[in-house]
Amino acid sequence: MKILVINAGSSSLKYQLIDMNGEVMLAKGNCERIGIDGKFTHKTKDGYVETREVNMPDHTSAFHQVKQALTEGEGKVIDDLSEVAAIGHRIVQGGSKYDRSVLVTEQVIQDIDDYAELAPLHNKAHVQGIRAAMAAFGPDVPEVVVFDTAFHQTMPPKAYMFGVPYEYYKKYAVRRYGFHGTSHRYVSNRCYELLGKPGGEGTKIITCHLGNGSSIAAIQDGKVIDTTMGLTPLDGFIMGTRSGAVDPSVVLFIMEKENLTPQQMSDVLNKKSGMLGISGVSSDDRDIEKAIAAGNERAKLAWEMRTYEIVKYVGSFISALGGVDAIVFTAGIGENQPMVRSEVIKSLKYRGAVLDEEKNKVHGEEMEITTPESSVRAFVIPTNEELVIARDTKAIVDQL
Ligand code: ADP
Repeated sequence: MKILVINAGSSSLKYQLIDMNGEVMLAKGNCERIGIDGKFTHKTKDGYVETREVNMPDHTSAFHQVKQALTEGEGKVIDDLSEVAAIGHRIVQGGSKYDRSVLVTEQVIQDIDDYAELAPLHNKAHVQGIRAAMAAFGPDVPEVVVFDTAFHQTMPPKAYMFGVPYEYYKKYAVRRYGFHGTSHRYVSNRCYELLGKPGGEGTKIITCHLGNGSSIAAIQDGKVIDTTMGLTPLDGFIMGTRSGAVDPSVVLFIMEKENLTPQQMSDVLNKKSGMLGISGVSSDDRDIEKAIAAGNERAKLAWEMRTYEIVKYVGSFISALGGVDAIVFTAGIGENQPMVRSEVIKSLKYRGAVLDEEKNKVHGEEMEITTPESSVRAFVIPTNEELVIARDTKAIVDQL
């Protein structure tokens, strides 16, 4: 069975075709700048790469590019579109209603659209992606949606409520949802295999998804009990361009002083803060590292602030869990930044955590990075959100 995984943004559409027979990625690519000037990239598992400028006025025309690339020319990986058995979509916000992946129906599309209020940039684009896939592939190809928020739905109210008047929860569903759930689910499941505890029963683990956007989850017996992201993916600790949690008064104070509208303030917090805002250099860790090596004090400060915040969250989650068996690092930074991992593990020296310096040099590969005598185990586990989406899609379609 071949499954097409789709991640639709407002002006982009990422895709991956996965053969579930052996879980092999056959091709992947990205339609960027949809509705602007259009850039299309297509890569196959055999190393074929194609990049071209092509006008894509909307998501439906982007799907036509994808269909063409998959079935024609040098980058062709299937003979006919009928080989695509199902389509799986990544959806950012599934509200309190969706604690698992589901088959797309009109009601599901309506719900995703309704939740757009909580994730304006993302959910509207996802609905466009679902509708465009239907138009391009026809109504007979089943579609499944996989929510970033679903895995966090096990959090108890004491973890997901905010200390604002209860009426806002009732009226507007203001609460902590958490994001990156697909990634936290994938790496936690892999961690249970490495711990020899399938399903995670009897375990306490902390998963750190550290990328451009970052979040940490505390997971007990396979269920999330707390996570750092909140109503939106802005909460938590310093990210590439996002502020993470700040004293709420800081937001009101800056808005007043700078005479900013909510949208302008949202741009400051989401796009101009974090590593970029503090360092003034870049949101990207590789640039920050270079700047630190060149003696840039603000880049160093940004780095120290982020590490300190991660260490604080990990410590507080250990208390919330009442202990910890393993810590997992994943995503661009988690998989590739030995220094961040090292500082987090060293902060747990008081608990008997011992880093294996040699193994911690790993980049982008699965590795246990603590020594056999360490009381807390730590792993680097590369994430694979597309594979989770494909697996969920297959599981649902198999039951039709
Ligand atoms: P996104 O949230 O956009 O998916 P990623 O998970 O790709 O982001 O993470 C991007 C971050 O990971 C960037 O800060 C980048 O510098 C960092 N990163 C990726 N690869 C490396 C590497 N080889 N060495 C150091 N940092 C890396």
